[in-house]
Amino acid sequence: MTLSLSIPARFRFRSLKLRIAVAYATLFALVLAAVVLLAGNGIARFGENSASRDLAANARVFDEIIALRAQQMRGSTDILSRDFGFREAVATHDDATIESALLSLRQRSRSAAAFVVGLDGSIVGSSDAALPAVEDLWNALDAGQERGVIRLGEKLALAAASPVETPDTIGWLVMAQPLDAAEMKRLSRLAAVDIDARVLPASRLPTALGNATLGNVVETNDGDRILHHVTALPALQQGLRPRLLLNHSLSEALAEYSGLQWLLAALAAAGLSLVVVLSWRVARTITSPLRALDAATRRLGEGKDAKVEITSEDEIGRLGASFNTMVDAIAERERQITHVALHDGLTNLPNRKLFVEQLDHALLRRRDDMQLMVVYVDLDDFKVVNDTLGHPAGDALLRNVAAHLQDVLGDAIVARLGGDEFAILLSDLPATENLAALADRLQDCFDRSIVIDGQQADASASLGIAVAPADGVDGITLMKNADLALYRAKRDGKSTYQFFERSLDEQARYRRQMELDLRLAIRDGGFELHFQPLYSLQEERLKAFEALIRWPHPERGMISPAEFIPLAEETGLIVQIGEWVVREACRQAASWPGDLAVAVNISPKQFLSPNLATVVLSALATSGLPATRLELEITESIFISNVERTLDALHGLRKLGVRIALDDFGTGYSSLSYLRSFPFDKLKIDQSFVRDLTAGGNANAVIRAITTLADALGMETLAEGVEDEAQAEILRQEGCRQIQGYLLSRPINARAVHEFIDEMQNMAEVERMRA
Ligand code: C2E
Ligand code: MG
Ligand code: MG
Repeated sequence: MTLSLSIPARFRFRSLKLRIAVAYATLFALVLAAVVLLAGNGIARFGENSASRDLAANARVFDEIIALRAQQMRGSTDILSRDFGFREAVATHDDATIESALLSLRQRSRSAAAFVVGLDGSIVGSSDAALPAVEDLWNALDAGQERGVIRLGEKLALAAASPVETPDTIGWLVMAQPLDAAEMKRLSRLAAVDIDARVLPASRLPTALGNATLGNVVETNDGDRILHHVTALPALQQGLRPRLLLNHSLSEALAEYSGLQWLLAALAAAGLSLVVVLSWRVARTITSPLRALDAATRRLGEGKDAKVEITSEDEIGRLGASFNTMVDAIAERERQITHVALHDGLTNLPNRKLFVEQLDHALLRRRDDMQLMVVYVDLDDFKVVNDTLGHPAGDALLRNVAAHLQDVLGDAIVARLGGDEFAILLSDLPATENLAALADRLQDCFDRSIVIDGQQADASASLGIAVAPADGVDGITLMKNADLALYRAKRDGKSTYQFFERSLDEQARYRRQMELDLRLAIRDGGFELHFQPLYSLQEERLKAFEALIRWPHPERGMISPAEFIPLAEETGLIVQIGEWVVREACRQAASWPGDLAVAVNISPKQFLSPNLATVVLSALATSGLPATRLELEITESIFISNVERTLDALHGLRKLGVRIALDDFGTGYSSLSYLRSFPFDKLKIDQSFVRDLTAGGNANAVIRAITTLADALGMETLAEGVEDEAQAEILRQEGCRQIQGYLLSRPINARAVHEFIDEMQNMAEVERMRA
């Protein structure tokens, strides 16, 4: 309602029911009040009118009573005025006789005055008070007026007059009786109602009534409303305007109606109560479906069942029906959203979230004598399928695998965790179940082969398996352990499965800690470079130093690069570490005399990082080391992934002017084939060949073959791990040009390098002197 906007908040209704009820009740109450007011007014007016009418009627009664009284008096005066003796006495002015007759008349009729007015202007008679002047009476008497009011002293009196005739009128006999309060009171008693009657001259009427007013007038006197009625009485005396004033208390008159008014009020009160009750009920009837909807909406918000019962076919009923339709639609949409949220879009398999839920559920239900198996699956070389056949083919393969799994593993739960990773949950496996055979069967499920656009895509998978309760009893542990086992399976080669073992967990923990420590060492500059000399047998002189990284770990002591370099490779941290090695090696080498070079190991991941050339260039520029004094050692493994890209990178580096050596030569499978594809500057023959060198042994032949080939290809050769003179001698004989190994020196720190160089120079000096 717009109304409520302008109402101060504390008067606003918080409930529609109350608002309707109050609106109804107020409306009815107003109507009722109007009716009661009108009726009450009507009753009062009716009371007043009837009181007025009564008073008017009473006034007429009074008039008549007064007239009757006057007539009686006239009767008495008539009798005396016709009396012969009396007429005689009047005619002869026999005042004594007259007075005696008059006195007797007064006594008989108990009148206040009786007198005779003579034609000659005389007045004879007796009275309790002073008689009026003859000239004041004269006109009325002469006009034949028989009765009227005269003034007797201070009081007014009713007078009746009869002519005294002989036979001509010689005077008038007038008799008067007082109209004082006592008399009037007596008369009032004759009236039906309690009336205060008074006769008084018009001039003495209460001022509120006005001099000339006749009829009914209401006057208020101290809260009492008084109804007055004034009628004119005939006057026998000139100048006297007598009035009959009737006073009647209106409040008293209306008192008999007050009962009626009370009844009306009581009826109104009863009506009002009824209206309030009815309004409340009406309001409740109207708002109850709305309240039901309100409650249902709240339930809907809480995600509970929110349908409402429809009880009518009106607007509210239709609103309820629409609401129910909406509830259904929301439920359906919620179901769809939940499905989307819990399923993988490509395969429609449960996703990781749902898998976790289902696993938790299955673990709760697991019986103590039953086992539960969580299998993590990673497709082998799925990336190759994607890269060579395109993503649509990859998707098709995934869908095919998923559909097949669902077909074959009826009651197992199969989920896609993302990418080419799946998870399988097998519950209710008896303790006697042959898990290895089961794993084999699962593995077979992934051996799929599909043809896409005429090209065949093969799938195989590696599996990591964790079994409850042996490998964990909660979902998180089981999934983590299955993942660890998968990691191991992947490392062990494709298309294998691996059951979780405790040691895997410890290894993983160790790896995590190491990775953290590596990051700290990178941040805090916690690495050192040691250097091992490279010696030319041919030239009998020191040629270079190989930079070998050292990690003095604050707790574990010196950690071998053989241990942390593979981890740095896996985590990608090698790129940052390798950059530091390149810069530090160049910086150190720049301080070495002559053309002494530095050899730096470049790991495969570092080699393929896009900015290796930039790093090398910048290290050379910063240190001032000529490019020719830098040698990069790479291993055959860089050729495994992408030969073309590798060759591009090698040529790029070569363009910078640096030398490139193939490290650990002979350990790879097809070492020789790489030699054809890129002209290395140097081959570093792996120490395993050197270790096997015994005079005349097979290894010697291998070394010779390598040196011959290298010579033919214009590459230098260096033998690693030369520990004694005998080995050195053989290598010299077999044509190997350089050696590296403990025979010359173990890897030494930067300071020791300078001492070593000096020492070598001194030795050379001595040799020369000897020569
Ligand atoms: P590598 O490049 O083949 O280095 C030679 C390894 O043989 C070094 O081990 C060295 O100490 C050891 N060695 C040298 N002479 C002898 C000997 O006479 N007898 C025996 N038994 N061993 C000898 P180190 O320093 O432990 O390095 C191991 C491997 O770690 C290196 O093999 C290299 O592949 C890698 N590495 C070392 N430093 C770096 C580096 O800065 N970056 C990269 N990417 N890899 C590095
Ligand atoms: Mg090396
Ligand atoms: Mg090596």
